[in-house]
Amino acid sequence: MLILKVLSFFMLICGYVLQQTHSHIRHSAELKSSHTTSTKVLIIGAGISGLEAARLLEQKGIETIVLEAQNRTGGRVYSRRSKHGSMLDMGARYIHGTRGSIPSGFLTNPLWDYTQQVNIPLCTTGDHNFLGLYPPSDKFTLADVQRWYDEYLTFVREETRFASSPNNSFAYNLDLFSQQKNFTSDQRDVLYDLTFFIIADREGAELEAIDAKSYLDITSINYGEEPVICDTGFMTITNHLTKGCKDIRLKQIVSKVNYTNTLIDVWTTDGQVYRADYVLVTVSLGVLKSNAIEFYPSLPQWKLNAINRVGFGYYEKIYLLWEQPWWNFTNFYFFRPASINSTGLRFWVSANKWNGIPSVMCTFSGKVISLFKWKENENTIVQEIQDSIQKMFPQIAIPTPTEIYMSNWNEDVYFRGSYSFISIDQKPDDPFRLSEPVENRLLFAGEATSSDNYGYSHGALLTARREVTRLLYVYNLLPKQNIIATSESTKTTSTNTFLLVTFLSFQLLIVELE
Ligand SMILES: Cc1cc2nc3c(=O)[nH]c(=O)nc-3n(C[C@H](O)[C@H](O)[C@H](O)COP(=O)(O)OP(=O)(O)OC[C@H]3O[C@@H](n4cnc5c(N)ncnc54)[C@H](O)[C@@H]3O)c2cc1C
Repeated sequence: MLILKVLSFFMLICGYVLQQTHSHIRHSAELKSSHTTSTKVLIIGAGISGLEAARLLEQKGIETIVLEAQNRTGGRVYSRRSKHGSMLDMGARYIHGTRGSIPSGFLTNPLWDYTQQVNIPLCTTGDHNFLGLYPPSDKFTLADVQRWYDEYLTFVREETRFASSPNNSFAYNLDLFSQQKNFTSDQRDVLYDLTFFIIADREGAELEAIDAKSYLDITSINYGEEPVICDTGFMTITNHLTKGCKDIRLKQIVSKVNYTNTLIDVWTTDGQVYRADYVLVTVSLGVLKSNAIEFYPSLPQWKLNAINRVGFGYYEKIYLLWEQPWWNFTNFYFFRPASINSTGLRFWVSANKWNGIPSVMCTFSGKVISLFKWKENENTIVQEIQDSIQKMFPQIAIPTPTEIYMSNWNEDVYFRGSYSFISIDQKPDDPFRLSEPVENRLLFAGEATSSDNYGYSHGALLTARREVTRLLYVYNLLPKQNIIATSESTKTTSTNTFLLVTFLSFQLLIVELE
């Protein structure tokens, strides 16, 4: 008993000393700032996850402030209008799925549900016939390449089943497969190209960097059609979400978060100080990797390890627009992969007609984007695209595009890349570690914190619902039956807590949809 008393006295003294140290840090910043703004929940980032969290919390009567570094909301959802009037999605474009693979619709894409609730009209994109116009080589037929690709995926599944391979990347397995099939280098290259264009587009990373087993385990669910928002762009969704948020502060660049005390202090670069019970961090994994936000104390090692190991990819878009279509405009799409060019960039070219303006969208992926001076070399890149398209349609004299728009997610300090991917370095529970709260009051949401829908905007939305559920639980605002279930689980391990929060998120989702 005496030992306990001595120990508690010692801890009291330590606590006091720590408090003094930190209150000094807070004090010095407060001197610079005119006042401290207090709220219950402070959300960093007004992308889809930050907006959804703010909207839901305010619906439940929890005071919330959203701090956003840029002068717009939406984050990686950004549609810009061309001079011709068409909306070009520089970030997210497709709603990936209108139904689940389980007939009850349990896996229905929640973003699709949201568009139905608030009456956002969608356009169907028809079939993505990847191979329809894919010209692999004079030497092989399309059927050959399709068959090799299917066989290769089966091979990868078998090879990686027990994860005993020294390297689980798609590239390593492609080399093994090519050796086993006695492929010529041409055959190997054509299979590599196709795999790159199908998978790297989804992940924004090189085949050498993606963990094939986890990729195939997680991304094999077919959610059905993939519509787009034709006339008004994907940003229609984030604009709707924005309307549901009471207090969003733009041009507030968060530079420091001090979570030493019960209340968390957050500093912005213009010297503002905000104080909150809980802080929800929704910035991209690229921003977390860059240490642009200083956490005090430093984030725990398990969180830093996950931030370092989970992959964050590169994916950029360039739109070329013409006054008149020069291809058969009755086709919804043409899709073509362009072979590697002088700059080392690989890209897909796809054309559309849903917004009535003849445009071609080129997508670039992989780390070569980060090595290449992307924005500086706009003219070289556009020339390469034009040459590539000309090679695809040698019989047509392709006119010069009248408008060109280029994304720049990688060089933008508020994103530093496109979206997360499963890297060969990461551990299976790293995405879960990214989502885990620190000190029970520093919470994390955003696409990279989703174990199964990472990289997607609906994934980001679901992570917001997960964290809102967590907060409703601590504010005692969950429906009664959930609270009983929760209280029984408070002694459980973090994995169980995660499952519980996931379960409750689905409950919340169902309540929201009713
Ligand atoms: C090119 C591209 C194409 C895509 N295509 C699709 C698609 O077709 N379908 C799909 O479902 N998904 C797609 N995605 C993915 C989707 O856009 C993202 O998963 C989703 O938008 C991420 O939302 P988020 O809330 O997690 O993060 P973000 O949108 O990144 O939001 C984080 C916010 O934090 C802000 N911020 C950063 N630093 C600070 C700071 N220091 N202080 C304050 N605020 C800060 C940022 O400005 C940003 O607004 C695509 C992404 C890209 C880049």
